[in-house]
Amino acid sequence: MAANWQRGVMRLMRIANHPVEVVGIRDFTPWYRRIEFRSPLAEALDVFPTLWLRLWVPHPAKGEGFVVQRGYTFVRVDAETRTFSLDFVLHDVAGPAGDWARAAAPGDRLEAALTPARIEIPDGTTTLVLAGDSTALPAINTWLETVPAEVQTHVLLEEEHDDRVELPHIERERGTWEWVAREGDRGTALSRAIRDAVSPGDGVYAWAAGEKTLVKNVRVAVREHLGLDRSRHFTQFYWIEGKATG
Ligand SMILES: Cc1cc2nc3c(=O)[nH]c(=O)nc-3n(C[C@H](O)[C@H](O)[C@H](O)COP(=O)(O)OP(=O)(O)OC[C@H]3O[C@@H](n4cnc5c(N)ncnc54)[C@H](O)[C@@H]3O)c2cc1C
Repeated sequence: MAANWQRGVMRLMRIANHPVEVVGIRDFTPWYRRIEFRSPLAEALDVFPTLWLRLWVPHPAKGEGFVVQRGYTFVRVDAETRTFSLDFVLHDVAGPAGDWARAAAPGDRLEAALTPARIEIPDGTTTLVLAGDSTALPAINTWLETVPAEVQTHVLLEEEHDDRVELPHIERERGTWEWVAREGDRGTALSRAIRDAVSPGDGVYAWAAGEKTLVKNVRVAVREHLGLDRSRHFTQFYWIEGKATG
């Protein structure tokens, strides 16, 4: 079907779709929901920090059976039980993935595709800066679970819901965690917080994701204040304010 061009492109690229079935739901807050899926996909997954999938979700406004893909980050992959979870920000503005997650129930079935790209942190990294908004939280937690104990981590999240402390977050002995209140453009306060919290140094690596303007602002702090070249940082837009994905 011409209208489902995303699926056509993926088919041409020979990217397989895998069935996934909802088996559990947990709400950390009214706007942050963990959905557990069972899928053969979990069986032989090469899991690394920030690994994400492309979930095909229904887009009823575009017609019966129409699906679109949206990126979500794997958390809690268990090969033995063939399960994994995804954490969904249930945003107020309507969107096919957020709307689907809000209404999800055990037994619901979707498909998912995988296009993995591993991020390599250079040897000798002693400080890992992890920044973003709540859509980056699942990925940040996957970093915190795997990073060696001797590495210092600094998490800075621009997120101001009152109940943000209820969100799932991994504590580390050598780790700091800072919630940053938004001021003006997304990422302005966050990049200032990064400048205040982290000193430039040889062993620093920075990873950031979230809304596009937020990530752009963080990049400035990462390049100009921390002085990190391309081998020492990775940033990715996860969503764009006021614009649907794809
Ligand atoms: C690699 C990758 C990993 C990601 N991992 C996660 C994850 O683990 N958890 C997660 O929640 N998201 C994650 N995202 C972001 C998620 O894919 C986007 O938020 C996506 O836009 C949601 O799709 P939608 O169909 O709900 O909304 P869309 O149809 O894309 O957008 C509809 C409207 O909703 C707005 N919108 C979209 N997302 C948000 C938001 N978070 N807050 C406020 N408004 C929003 C848009 O600006 C637009 O106006 C990830 C994205 C990528 C690329």
